[in-house]
Amino acid sequence: TLPDSEEFDVVVVGGGPAGSTLAALVAMQGRRVLVLEKEFFPRHQIGESLLPSTVHGVCRLTGVADELAKAGFPRKRGGTFRWGANPDPWTFSFSVSPRMSGPTSFAYQVERSKFDDILLKHARKVGAEVREGCAVLDVVADDERVRGVTYTDADGKERRALATFVVDASGNMSRLHQRVGGKREYSEFFRSLALFGYFEGGKRLPEPNSGNILSVAFPSGWFWYIPLSDTLTSVGAVVRREMAEKIQGDREKALMALVDECPLIGEYLANAKRVTTGQYGQLRVRKDYSYHQTTFSRPGLVLIGDAACFVDPVFSSGVHLATYSALLAARSINSVLSERVDEERALKEFEARYRREYGVFYEFLLSFYEMHHDEDSYFWQAKKVTRTERPELQSFVELIGGVSSGERVLTDAEILAKRFSSGSAEFAAAVDELAGSDDGSMVPLFKSSVVREVMQEGGQVQMRALLGEDAEAESPLFSGGLVPSQDGMFWQSPVSAPSPA
Ligand code: FAD
Repeated sequence: TLPDSEEFDVVVVGGGPAGSTLAALVAMQGRRVLVLEKEFFPRHQIGESLLPSTVHGVCRLTGVADELAKAGFPRKRGGTFRWGANPDPWTFSFSVSPRMSGPTSFAYQVERSKFDDILLKHARKVGAEVREGCAVLDVVADDERVRGVTYTDADGKERRALATFVVDASGNMSRLHQRVGGKREYSEFFRSLALFGYFEGGKRLPEPNSGNILSVAFPSGWFWYIPLSDTLTSVGAVVRREMAEKIQGDREKALMALVDECPLIGEYLANAKRVTTGQYGQLRVRKDYSYHQTTFSRPGLVLIGDAACFVDPVFSSGVHLATYSALLAARSINSVLSERVDEERALKEFEARYRREYGVFYEFLLSFYEMHHDEDSYFWQAKKVTRTERPELQSFVELIGGVSSGERVLTDAEILAKRFSSGSAEFAAAVDELAGSDDGSMVPLFKSSVVREVMQEGGQVQMRALLGEDAEAESPLFSGGLVPSQDGMFWQSPVSAPSPA
């Protein structure tokens, strides 16, 4: 037993985007929140390309959006892709027309060391207690529930913090998620490796798209090319996991051999120099395996961000899912602490909505991979096996079925498999139409069902953040489910929501 335990309403493990967002949203309700972060910020992290729902939705709700706007991050109007049947790059814009950018139809490309630091400082500013250099060792639990954590503080002393809720936002490397029960299930489909580094002086896309992410498919996989400032670029190759050995040897040689395979990236890097000092000085390797924990919560413990699940980096969904799941969990925790909703119901709402959002991206990304063809490439051929043959589809369907029991379309494997294949064909056709037109209108893409779905929930969070009290009441996601309160900070029963005039 440790003598000096302290007590909080919530202990958050990890101060990345998921942890700091949750901490801010709960502390803003006057609750006692402790964030324990293993590192000292600023620290390097990968995941630099954001989506508008984070910037204009969740970050507006926490109150950090204006500060982000002042930080000078490059504006990302969308993504430019050399991917699919068309040999020329095509551009996906967050706005309907790529020449017009509305007030919320952009996101940022961020140096995560700066972005995460701004978010964590903001959590502190709105009332959370943040302790850096504190590594959580384990949860404190009894038969009934999780009641806190043990951790080593910055002086190396072991301590204990007790709380009504522990939130695991410790990312994909930590083992704490195991304490929720169930297991982490990996998708066969999305198992790849990323090798990445940073360059000074790389070429930029023509205006107005110079802030876009450029994603380029090539025989061994695909490259990301993310402008982090006028001169700094993050460049990474995603390749099949069997190439791990090659990469582990001489990383520099391996990366340059991959660049040689991909003429477009070669052209963009022709006059660039690799950064070899500071936080960007090393070439790093990360698994980008997709996984999900079979359960996201147990009494007293909630998993958010990468601790719970991760899809695939190609559409920059990681930070969106991290901050969005933080918003969902904060609503649940705020509702329980203020005795508006009981814990079981509140956590069920969190988990159903989080899994649905994860599922929407999973489906979209399958369609994204499906549309690129390269008969001679092992990487791309491996992405072509029909989905119905893939066992993870079955378990994935069961998983969604288990929580969103009201929605038949999500509980029937056959219907879902059909929807997958018609959705991806429709998506590929929309991309072809877009790539073939000269006016660059996004209308064909926004008509495609997978794109519509992927934009939908983020759009709603953005609307709510912008309109606040004036936002229209939402309907529940599944039968017996809850809806967000007008201020977006709690859950409430749909019956108690004011009916539209
Ligand atoms: P993290 O950002 O990992 O934060 C977790 C924090 O917890 C860390 O600060 C860590 O130090 C701390 N921690 C860990 N263990 C402990 C402990 N025991 N005690 C205390 N603290 C602890 N996402 C995008 O949005 N856009 C992209 O372009 C993108 N590209 C990617 C490319 C690759 C190759 C990969 C692998 C991922 C990419 N992602 C991208 C995903 C993105 O990196 C993550 O989804 C995102 O960082 C998750 O945020 P988080 O807050 O859940 O976790």
